Formats: sequence, C-alpha cells, structure tokens
Amino acid sequence: MLLPTMAAPADRPAVRFADTTLTHERLAAVAGDLATRIAGRRAVAVWATPSAHTCVAVVAGLLAGIPVVPLNPKIGQLELAHILNDSRPELVLADTDQPTGLPALCADFGTDFDGDLPPEPDGEQVAFIVYTSGTTGPPKGVLLPRRAVAASLDALAEIWDWTDADTVVHGLPLFHVHGLILGVLGPIRRGGAVHHVGKFSSRAIAAGLVEGATMVFGVPTMYSRLVADAEADKGLAGVLANARVLVSGSAALPKTVHERIAAATGQQVVERYGLTETLMNCGIRLAGERRPGTVGPPLPGVELRLVDDAGAVVEARDDETVGEIEVRGDNLFLGYLNRPDATAQAMHDGWFRTGDMATVAADGYVRIVGRKATDLIKSGGYKIGAGEIENALLEHPGVAEAAVTGEPDDDLGERIVAWVVPSGEPPSADELADHVAKLLAPHKRPRVVHFLESLPRNDMGKVTKRALGG
Ligand code: ATP
Repeated sequence: MLLPTMAAPADRPAVRFADTTLTHERLAAVAGDLATRIAGRRAVAVWATPSAHTCVAVVAGLLAGIPVVPLNPKIGQLELAHILNDSRPELVLADTDQPTGLPALCADFGTDFDGDLPPEPDGEQVAFIVYTSGTTGPPKGVLLPRRAVAASLDALAEIWDWTDADTVVHGLPLFHVHGLILGVLGPIRRGGAVHHVGKFSSRAIAAGLVEGATMVFGVPTMYSRLVADAEADKGLAGVLANARVLVSGSAALPKTVHERIAAATGQQVVERYGLTETLMNCGIRLAGERRPGTVGPPLPGVELRLVDDAGAVVEARDDETVGEIEVRGDNLFLGYLNRPDATAQAMHDGWFRTGDMATVAADGYVRIVGRKATDLIKSGGYKIGAGEIENALLEHPGVAEAAVTGEPDDDLGERIVAWVVPSGEPPSADELADHVAKLLAPHKRPRVVHFLESLPRNDMGKVTKRALGG
C-alpha cells in the first residue's frame, strides 16, 4: 500500500484547503468509498483543480490500484484530446462545484474507452500517468510505478527529517510531480498534513506558517516574490524565519534569490532536483552544507553519473567539467505510454538520460548548468551553460529577471543572447555584457541584449525558452 506508511492519528488533518479540511480518517473514508466505486476501471483522469476533491480523487485511484492521469484544468482542447486518446481513461473525475468547462471539452470522448490497459512492465502497478509539458513534441505520458513514488518520497523524508509532525504549505498546481506527488502525497505518506493555499501569495504562505505549517514548497519565482515582500515587511521576514525548512525545486533557484532570502530571514533555502520521469534525484540535506547554486548530492538510493557527448562516463569530480546527468535507481519511471521509441531513446544502458548538464564536485554536490537542448550554447568552440550567465546577469543591480539563449552566428556558431527584465531604468547592453565578461570570462559575454517587461513562463514558473526563440 502506498499511503500512508505510518498510522496517523485519525483526527489529525491530512489535507487542508480554504473551504475544507479532511482528517486522515475522513480522507481514508471518502477516498475508500470512491475507490470501491471506481474499482476495476482501466485508468482514471483527474481534473486537477486545487481542491480537496482532487486529493480525494487521486487517493481513491491509488487505493483502487488504477493509474491516475492528472489533468491541467487550463488545458486546451487539442492537448486534452491527445492525452485522453493516449491514456484512454474510463472516467474523468472533477470537482463539479467549480466551473470546469469539462462537459464541452469531453463531449467527444464519452464512449470510446475500451482499449488495452497501459502496459505494466514487470508486473509493476502504475500509480500515475503524468504528461510532460510537450516542449519537444506531443506531450508524452510518463508511467510512474508505486515503487518510484514511494522511493522518492521516502528519500526526501530521510534527508529533511520529514515526519508526521510536519505540515507543508504551498500554492503549487496539482497536475505535476511537485505540487501533487511531493506536495500532497508526501505529507499524507508521512502521516502529516498539506495546507494548500489555492493561488500562491506571500501573504497566504505566511498565514499558513502562522497557523502551524512547518515546511514551505515552492518554485523559484515564488521565492523571488517571497523575498521581495519579506524585504519590505519585517513581519513576513520573521514568519519565514520560523519555518522549519523552505524547499525550492522545478527550476534553478538563482543564487541571488538564495542569498537575499538568507539576508532577510536567516533561512537558507534547500534545493532539490528532479524530473517527471525520475521523480527526485538530488537534494540538499538539512544536516549538510546548503551551497547556493547546487542541488546537493544524489538522494539515498539514486545513482548519478555524468556522460560526455559520445556517451562515455566523465570521471572528473570538480566544479569545471560539465557532462549530461544520467541516473539509475528505484525512483525511475517505467517508460512512456505507447512510445517505446521515446523510451528507448531516453535510456542508456539502463540509465536515464536527463538532458540536464551539470558538474559534480569532489564531495558529490551537483551543480546544474542548464538543459542540453535549450541551455547549452556552443559559441566560439566553447560550450557555455546559460544558467551561469543568467546568474551573473542577476548579480547586476539593474536586472530583475534574466534568461539566456543561443542563436545562430556565422562566426561563432552560436552567439549568446540575453533577455532581461530591468529592475528600473534599463542599464545599457554594453554595461551588462561587460559585467558578465568581468564576472565570468570574456567568451561568456552576451552579444545581444533584449529588454522585456516580463519573461514567458509556464505554470511552474519555468521560463519557456522556445517562446524566446531558444
Ligand atoms: P518537458 O520535459 O516536457 O520539456 P518540463 O521541463 O516542465 O517539461 P519536468 O520533468 O517537469 O519537465 O522538469 C524537469 C526539469 O526541470 C529538469 O530536467 C531540470 O532541467 C529542471 N529542474 C528541476 N529542478 C531543478 C533544480 N532544482 N535546478 C535546476 N533545474 C531543475
């Protein structure tokens, strides 16, 4: 059984939203009841509005042993059609108290769900089919077995001393690994609670902490907001200072944000790194050094190595030698649904190719420099990680947000392009380029600087570099 590992006191809250709190006992009862009603279906989709109903639906799917397909409630018609055709759920569960637009969207999908069950390689039970965001083609259904969910959640519990005494507060969407698997199933599995604030705001997170939450989960854009607000409001800074742990993930936390939070609250944010396909790979230990700009060592039970372009293992353990991260362990997915081609491509001798480029220090700390496909710029014979230049740009007082891409250049192969949201009067392009060259190296100087009012971001606050032409 996936949930929970320990018997939580029945009257203790498990799931809390603005309008509803479910104790462990109540959650087990309502989800158990729903589980008996959906038992035997081949897969169940959950219209993942941030609500207690969504949590009940997901737990019911798990109790019934049916693969759960979380759906982004803002999904477009074409993507929904693709996901429903691909995963062929027999049911879509939705909170009908909230306007969903679902009947219209699902009108074409009422009767046609008698296809084959998703494969269960090695007899493992699929807990979730989570769709990738589809930046490189149609979204792929990631088959996540119970074994992987349990392995990742337990590894995080181990490094963060996460127990039934903890309440996690967050405002993350519930159709991704971060908000749903870590942010809802994590607390339930520990026998603790999740307090979901609905739409994220600094004030709502602070209120959650005042009401007893001990851990905050967020993406870097949320921490940028939290720190800007905490710098202006001593009360908020004090509340954040009292949290047991602040955790960031889903994208790189800029060093400057890490340092500003430390200055304003005394808290050093703990970063962890994962992907839908692998769940969690690395994380900073509470007891270990909180080194900004790194995601810590591999988690217990996860093996991690770097490989070069030819697929050869990189042995160097320093802060210079970059390679692609490959991982192996119980945290891995089973494959992509209906896509043996993509599954085969993603694997390398039993290791999963993450597509993320990183260094590994002698003490095992992993520093991610960017994604191979969009963040690795090949300029003048050098391979340059966009993340490093983004961090350098953010060190400039005139820069509020920064993204870096490469574009074709006759001379250099690719040239470095910076996309900058200024914090006030924009600095000149030359000044920014000189700033980067001085902090890093002359060949890392941006050749083009664009100023924007905001950066394009997805639901998780990740910059969508393809929208910038990256
Ligand atoms: P798609 O794979 O469809 O393009 P996506 O990028 O949203 O969508 P996810 O599996 O949600 O896919 O995100 C995984 C990626 O997020 C990782 O490969 C990595 O690039 C990035 N990431 C996650 N955590 C961190 C972190 N702490 N630091 C840097 N990058 C991170």
